[in-house]
Amino acid sequence: MSNLEENIRQVRVRVDQAVARSAEPDRPVSIIGVTKTVDLDAVDAAIHAGLFDFGENRVGELVRKQAAFPMARWHMIGRLQTNKVKEAVEKAWLIHSLDRWNLAEAINRRGEQDGRTVSALLQVNVSGEASKAGLALEDVFHFLDSVGELKKLNILGLMTIAPEEDAEITRPVFKELKKIFDENKGKWHSNVEMLYLSMGMSGDFEVALEEGSNIVRIGRALFGS
Ligand SMILES: *Cc1c(COP(=O)(O)O)cnc(C)c1O
Repeated sequence: MSNLEENIRQVRVRVDQAVARSAEPDRPVSIIGVTKTVDLDAVDAAIHAGLFDFGENRVGELVRKQAAFPMARWHMIGRLQTNKVKEAVEKAWLIHSLDRWNLAEAINRRGEQDGRTVSALLQVNVSGEASKAGLALEDVFHFLDSVGELKKLNILGLMTIAPEEDAEITRPVFKELKKIFDENKGKWHSNVEMLYLSMGMSGDFEVALEEGSNIVRIGRALFGS
């Protein structure tokens, strides 16, 4: 078995065990392989080893890798500039990094122009650290209240990037976002559905899964540092 295959196997075992320890042990979970530090051959190997979902934090790389592997599902997970919305909308199956109102408007306009509805997760800055991207916690309610007017945008859940220290220090951040996720289920307009909770990276995915995540975004633990 190659390193990558062995890493994928180990991550899957750890994911399954963490989900089994959680309050909803039967829920399905997606593993996104974050390929921002690796090239096409590693993506190819990962697809052959059975990974299906991949994430990039830059639109240029997303476009390049999606073109090479259009059969895989590509996720935009990094900060998205409004001038890159067209490509992101075209190439990403899901945008995880919707973090501000003017970006929501730009995505919606793009959806109108393309005659399609675009799916995104609302990225929330739970810890309130100034260095972290994401909508401030206190603005989430207003955002979800207003987004009903953006008819070509579907909000399918929430995403966060936790502060990078100890995963146990981060646990309350995951717990808080799961609470907000549950509280907003079935509460809003028809274009707001709480289906996906994207939280957990190499250093903290088990804690995130114990707290209710159903999408983990994993780079180093799969592809090495
Ligand atoms: C790089 C990145 C990841 C993966 O981080 P690892 O620590 O390598 O697992 C996950 N999410 C986002 C938004 C990233 O930029």
